[in-house]
This record gives sequence, C-alpha cells and structure tokens, in this order.
Amino acid sequence: MAALLRHRAAVAVNLGVMSDQPLLSLEEARRRIMAGVEPLPAEELPLPHALGRVLATDTQALLTAPPWHNSAMDGFAVRSADVAAASTEDPVELRVVGEVAAGHEPTGSVGAGDAIRVLTGGMMPPGADAVVPVEETDAPPGVADLPERVAIHMAVAPDRHVRHAGSDFHQGDALLRAGTRVTPAAVAALAASGHSRVMVHRLPRVAVIATGDELTPLGEPLGPASIPDSNSESISAQVIVAGGEPVRLGIAIDDHDVVRERLLEGIMAADVLVATGGVSVGAHDVVKDVFDEIGQLELWRVAIQPGKPLAYGGAARPDGGRCLLFGLPGNPVSSFVTFELFVRPVLRRLRGDAGDQGRPSVRAVLADPVRKSVGRRAFIRVRLEPEPMADGRYRAHMAGRQGSHVLSALALADGLAVIGEDVTELPTGAEVEVIRLDVEIA
Ligand code: AMP
Ligand code: MG
Repeated sequence: MAALLRHRAAVAVNLGVMSDQPLLSLEEARRRIMAGVEPLPAEELPLPHALGRVLATDTQALLTAPPWHNSAMDGFAVRSADVAAASTEDPVELRVVGEVAAGHEPTGSVGAGDAIRVLTGGMMPPGADAVVPVEETDAPPGVADLPERVAIHMAVAPDRHVRHAGSDFHQGDALLRAGTRVTPAAVAALAASGHSRVMVHRLPRVAVIATGDELTPLGEPLGPASIPDSNSESISAQVIVAGGEPVRLGIAIDDHDVVRERLLEGIMAADVLVATGGVSVGAHDVVKDVFDEIGQLELWRVAIQPGKPLAYGGAARPDGGRCLLFGLPGNPVSSFVTFELFVRPVLRRLRGDAGDQGRPSVRAVLADPVRKSVGRRAFIRVRLEPEPMADGRYRAHMAGRQGSHVLSALALADGLAVIGEDVTELPTGAEVEVIRLDVEIA
C-alpha cells in the first residue's frame, strides 16, 4: 500500500502542478473555455447558400411589401358601398369594366356600379375598396372569359380581402437581427425584402486528430492489437452537426514528436483542434505536454464522468490567429460527451450562435436505478420514452451499460441524465434532468 501511494505521488509530481489541484467543476471549466471565444469574421453569401448560417449584421427591408395594395383573392374589385345590400337571394349586379391579372397594372378604374375582375396578388384598381371572392358571385371559378356583368351574392366591408401596401414590412424596417440563424423562413423574408446576398459568420474549421498506436483507419485490415479509429468518425460527425467543417488529419501514433508535428499541422489548418486520446495519466499520454510546447495548456481534468481527463488550451498561429486546442479523452463515450459539453458550445459561439450547448433539457423519472462514484457529475446515457407522462415528465431507461467504452448504449441513447457530484445512487422513480441529444435549439 505504501509503495502504491509512493508511486501515485511520483506520478502526480511528474504531471506538474495541475494534478495537485482539485478537479475543476463543469461550470468553471466551461467559463474558462468560453472566456475568449468570439464569433468568427463575416463573409457574404448568396441567399440559398446562407442557409444554416448566422447573420453577422442586422438586416433591414430594402423594399416595401406588398409594394402596392393588392387583392388577397381571385374575385372582383368593387366599391363596398355598391354591394352593401347584396345577398344570395337578392344579388347586386355590377358592370365588369376590365381585369387586373398579377403582374399587370390596372388599365381602368372602378366607378359606381362597376367591378374589375382581379386575380390574387393583382393591383387594386383605383376606385375599388374591397374584393368579392369569385365564389360569392355568379361567375364561374377557374379559367373563364371576362363576363360583361357579374351578380354579387355577398356584402363586403371596406378593405375586405385587400392586402395593404407595407402590411408586411416597409423599406427600412428592421427585419432580422444579427445572431439570427438563417432558416428557410428567414431566406423567404430576406429574399422578399430585396436581399440576394447576406453577411453571415464564417464556419469554424476544426482539425480532427486521433492519437493511439492501437488505431487503424476505417476500411483497413485490423492488426492483432488494433481497433478501428471510431473517434475520428464520431468527432467529425459531431463537428458537422454543430455547424463546423471538419479537417481530418488522421491518426498520430503515441509518439511525442509525431503528435507534435500533427498538432502543428492542425493549428495551421483550423480555428479549433480536437485531438482524442493521450490526455490521461498513462505512460504514453503526450498530448498535454505537446499543448504546452506549441501553445499553452490552460486546463486539465474536470469533475465529470465520463470525460475527466479533458485538456484545453490555445496556440498562436504565425498569421496572428489563434487555434483553440481540445484534448478529449480517448474512450469513445468520453470523447463524445466532452465534445457535447465543451466543444459544441465553442463551435456554436464561433459560428455566431449562442455559446451554449444548444440542447434542451427535460425533467425525467428514472425507470432504472443508478449508481455512481462520488465527486464527479455523471452523464448517464438514457433512452427517453417518446411521450411524456401526464405530469409532463419523461420516463428515462438506461440505454445500456454505462462504461466509457460502451458505444452500443450511446448509439441507443437520446439523452444524458445529469446526476450531481455528491450523489452515489438514485432509486427507480427519482427525478433527473436529461439533456436531449436528439434536439437542437438554434
Ligand atoms: P486514451 O485516452 O488514449 O488512454 O484511450 C482510452 C481508451 O480509448 C483506450 O481503450 C483506447 O483504445 C480508446 N481509444 C482511444 N482513441 C480511440 C479512437 N480514436 N477510436 C476508438 N477508441 C479509441
Ligand atoms: Mg491512448
């Protein structure tokens, strides 16, 4: 026992001052990581390509919409006073003096006793103050010659079925603020208000590097002591989901110089570097040391389960830019969870979104008991029943075994149940917060 303690003390000294310190809380780690993160510079993109990006500037309407009063219906533009007494039993007959189709200016005006046939979106002709839908007349709906007269079956109030100029927006009106995600609906509003290109934040480029002698790229034959490099795939996928562009730099063996070369390559290629593996206390875990050589290791070890050995730092680039460095633990569930908790908020802030996880939390009731060790906040992989119970809470089942290597459970999980640092066990029926992994808040 004494020998073991001596050995542990020696390891702690080797790891330097950081390992003597208590683990950082999740909040403190996140606060330090987010401290210097600002949205990336803007670029101008044509509208359809701006989809999914975040506006870098407030936008104003460049046009007024509708540009003029127009009809909301296919029907007849009338003077409402002329048809005030109209009904099916006692129709009012009007003279049809012309037609306005969408895209054409009216050629005549509506005098007393007159009607002008209008189509949806057609300009309101002068003199008319309301539209009677074709269904409320004796005119046949659909394609038909212009009749000479029309019998109106219904009274209409002034303004009925008229869309007023500017009733959507006026030129110069504030439209969508900086920080708004460009959705298909935003594309529609921007296009209708005269924008063909918009200023949006650049997407973060993220260098993805796996470290480990045991790793084999996908599709290559496995050696006797090797496993597929699943982290490069999952991290790249998470980068894409978080709105970044992965720059895949493959696998680096557990060799200081090899890792250093690969990380230097990543710094040059990306805004953020995500390395997995090699950040723990193993004899070949070189990533933290390399962070300190090529930049600064700013924090290491967070009081979470899985994911404790998370390392974070930064490095200056020769071009004056800066690359944020993440060293995620190699265990695939740990790398997945630490990406969600720490990298995803950074990528969101860089792309102009709020710098949080962008995942909603729900209240849930455990369908299985949970045990965990004290001192770390646990993120338990759970499967939520699709419908909440009558009280609005969900039922959460263990998605499978909770080891940091158990990807079969992670793949079934649609949430992470959060269990506090001090808790060691929770019975079936206990209420927990669950972070939904299957939903995104823009
Ligand atoms: P490490 O953090 O390097 O100590 O690795 C912890 C565990 O994660 C080991 O079982 C590794 O084999 C595994 N691991 C590390 N990197 C990867 C990877 N890229 N893909 C799959 N498993 C990995
Ligand atoms: Mg390793």
